[in-house]
Amino acid sequence: MGSANLDLVARVSRLPGPGETLTGYDYFEAAGGKGLNQAVGAARAGADVVFVGAVGSDDAGRTLLGVMDSNGVGSAHVLTVAGVPTGRALIGVADDGANLIIVVPGANGRMDASAVRSATAALRGAAVVLVQHEIPEDGVREALALARAAGARTILNPAPARPIPPDVLALVDVLVPNEHEHRLLGDTSAAGTVIVTQGEKGATVIHSTGRWTVPPFEVEAIDTVAAGDAFCGALAAALALGLTLEAALIRASAAGALATTRVGAVPSLPTAREIDALIARG
Ligand code: ADP
Repeated sequence: MGSANLDLVARVSRLPGPGETLTGYDYFEAAGGKGLNQAVGAARAGADVVFVGAVGSDDAGRTLLGVMDSNGVGSAHVLTVAGVPTGRALIGVADDGANLIIVVPGANGRMDASAVRSATAALRGAAVVLVQHEIPEDGVREALALARAAGARTILNPAPARPIPPDVLALVDVLVPNEHEHRLLGDTSAAGTVIVTQGEKGATVIHSTGRWTVPPFEVEAIDTVAAGDAFCGALAAALALGLTLEAALIRASAAGALATTRVGAVPSLPTAREIDALIARG
């Protein structure tokens, strides 16, 4: 459950200043949003995935529904909201790698508690419910509460960072912040298990019974976009398929590493076969 955006990406030699108009030299559009990235990541990693989110009644929304369908992500519970745009990220990327990003949440901002409740049927029977912070707080709370009540395991990827109210944290079985988010969150001990992702350093699991590290797979990283999304999607998929947390973390770590070897978000999310191959290689 979470956000779905259409990313509009322009390449420019340098970023414009305020009031300045520059001519870009390349342009492409791609599906994005942490919710959709992670849903596609989980489907490619082998899980049966239903996406819960919202799009606008526009071409971008139809494009995103098509991306879900072509990736085997169930779209029957996606709300189409009239009168607001589909979430967009307007992205400028300069030759030195600097970027400038404007995110317009649009329909994602309508994923409040009542919108989430309208998708209760999707949560019943789910083994795992995975949510992030790109939808409103009360939508996150409602999703976690409904998932808990339905017996699903709950995973929260608190990205982008914002404080987590104690009652929401208490509904989280597995919290997956990156290092930066973890520092900003403060005390997260009310969540069942905390997995702090640390980029090329791997990940650290913090549990009431102790802490251990998940070593990184050695890869040639060229673009770290969506490493965290690949990690979360593969983790959710492996847990839904009944793997232990330890085994699921090895798959998540492999997925995160593989995502850094390719450019972009959705295109860089690995399949179960690619994850198997990296684990076999070691
Ligand atoms: P985010 O994209 O949310 O900031 P991270 O950068 O922490 O997330 O990456 C998520 C996970 O992906 C890491 O915990 C690690 O397992 C894997 N990963 C990321 N970057 C690399 C890398 N350069 N080499 C190997 N694994 C990586």
